Amino acid sequence: SDTLLEVKGLQTYFYTEDGTVKAVDGVDFHVNRGEILGIVGESGCGKSVSNMSILRLIQDPPGKIVGGEINFEGTNLLELPENKMRNIRGNDIAMIFQEPMTSLNPVFTVGDQIMEALLLHRNMSMEEARNHAVEMLKTVGIPRANEAIDEYPHQFSGGMRQRAMIAMALSCNPSLLLADEPTTALDVTIQKQILELIKDMKEQYDTGITLITHDLGVIADMADRVVVMYAGKVVEQADIFEIFDKPLHPYTSGLHESIPTMDTEAERLKVIRGVVPNPLTMPEGCPFHPRCDHEMTKCREKMPPLMDLNGRQVRCWLYSEDKEVG
Ligand code: SF4
Ligand code: MG
Repeated sequence: SDTLLEVKGLQTYFYTEDGTVKAVDGVDFHVNRGEILGIVGESGCGKSVSNMSILRLIQDPPGKIVGGEINFEGTNLLELPENKMRNIRGNDIAMIFQEPMTSLNPVFTVGDQIMEALLLHRNMSMEEARNHAVEMLKTVGIPRANEAIDEYPHQFSGGMRQRAMIAMALSCNPSLLLADEPTTALDVTIQKQILELIKDMKEQYDTGITLITHDLGVIADMADRVVVMYAGKVVEQADIFEIFDKPLHPYTSGLHESIPTMDTEAERLKVIRGVVPNPLTMPEGCPFHPRCDHEMTKCREKMPPLMDLNGRQVRCWLYSEDKEVG
């Protein structure tokens, strides 16, 4: 199928007083047009940093993209001058976050912010842009959109701000949408509506979407393919049916088994014992070994490579030809 985005060998490090945090360390994945790629893993596994790296929004210092390529529609974004990159942000690639205040400017009305992008990138007249902005606000379920368009972000509730941010992100019809826990802070009904909206966008406009979440339930409803990240690396990659039918990596199995429990992240993930390792004191070998029930001697000594198994990928010594027996 038609590749829209290809991330190759991405490395994003943070240089802190206590040492180097390799937040993303050699990550590969791709997104096709008209596809939702789910990116799952606990907090601190490098999902958000991967997404921020795609748009080159990593704060330097302390962060820096130190290696890899981000090929978007045939161009390596890491080689673009900043002014070209600015044209891509919000227009060709849009992003929605868990915290909408990071993308809404408090000193402009919601309407001004949606219209700004339309006037800049879409060549619309004032009137067309305003009408389109009202339409977008209606699309994301903002009541009395004709008035809400002239309000400021602080006049909106949290859920409404989230919708406004999504309206802004979708208004320019980006070919790639990066969605980082877009519905985590919302109640279940609104969450469902927003996810439906994202799915429609994929189907109607052939948008490629990365959907970051710690919630495998959301992934099951939404994604076509899944990348599982752990400790800055991809540990498994497969299509949605394979991941749910037969997870290969012990971490994926752990996430999988923890789906139907309580509704906070902590409760959900309690099935996997232990916690994500401190990136400053990463364990030797497979970074999952202190939490893994299948751990072998080799796991404590050597990082497993990402292995190809009939089109799906897994980073675990259990699937190596020279794995230990017993
Ligand atoms: Fe577990 Fe070893 Fe596989 Fe790591 S490499 S997930 S420790 S079995
Ligand atoms: Mg995150």
